[in-house]
Amino acid sequence: MPTLLSPEEIATQGAPDASPNRLPSPHVFAGRAERLRKLAEGHAMADFLAFAARLADAQQTLLDRLGPTAPPDEAQLRRCRQHGMPPLDAHGAQLPADWTSVLHDLATAVVPHAPAGLQNAIAALPDFPQERLAALARAILRGDEDLSNPIELALAPLIGASLQVLWASRALGLATSDIPAGFEGGQCPACGAPPVASIVRIGDAGHGVRYATCSLCACEWHVTRIKCVPCQNTRGIAYQGLEGAAGPAHPGVKAETCPECQASLKIVSMETDPAVDAFADDLATLALDMLVDEAGFHRAGRNLFLFLP
Ligand SMILES: [Zn+2]
Ligand SMILES: [Zn+2]
Repeated sequence: MPTLLSPEEIATQGAPDASPNRLPSPHVFAGRAERLRKLAEGHAMADFLAFAARLADAQQTLLDRLGPTAPPDEAQLRRCRQHGMPPLDAHGAQLPADWTSVLHDLATAVVPHAPAGLQNAIAALPDFPQERLAALARAILRGDEDLSNPIELALAPLIGASLQVLWASRALGLATSDIPAGFEGGQCPACGAPPVASIVRIGDAGHGVRYATCSLCACEWHVTRIKCVPCQNTRGIAYQGLEGAAGPAHPGVKAETCPECQASLKIVSMETDPAVDAFADDLATLALDMLVDEAGFHRAGRNLFLFLP
């Protein structure tokens, strides 16, 4: 007879017996698009979420066309496992040769539905210096982009979406055993990028197991519950949600706040709402970021559809 675990035991149990890392679904962007369309219904930011859904649809079409990218060679994979280095390193990586064709294909697919600022930026794309575009893409991969130029600010989510397609394709070329195991930190063990949010899963990964979801390659890595992902602190962790007139406004999403590093990372729970998606539900709960920001916490999650000047 199976043993039932108490909520406390579930919350503190370690990684599942299988790999602590999960590869993205080959249909990751289609899943996001579907969730974004659902979240857009009656939402104060309905137009933004509906456009994000169209962009995610276009990402899926491109990922289907690309399929999995061939993995790094075995010697490189072995070195990465031995030294705990991400095999698809985003920080120092060269841009894949086909990256601008992915960008142009995404732009063509979404331009009829894009907001005016992005339509103008897409119109300017053919004359935009290639080396500036590449420099911006590399800065986005490193997380230190300067978006003072309005055209670059408008193009950033499209570049972010292109990089997500390319890195998801590369992640799909890996086996879970190619990704270094045993890391619970704030960087994806497959590509080194920060998480968009974290997710408590149900079903195949075991009930109540929490993963951080990569903002770039969509891999997931196991992280302990009630523990700050950026700094690993376990003391004074608190949770904040959005309240509506008739109770919790978005019950599947909470912001986990840490008094040590003042970071806030969202946790979306399939236990509360089986349809949650870390990326989509993050975009739909920006009001929660404002709430925790007012309380003095900074956002630790990175969402590549979301850029500020
Ligand atoms: Zn990653
Ligand atoms: Zn912390």
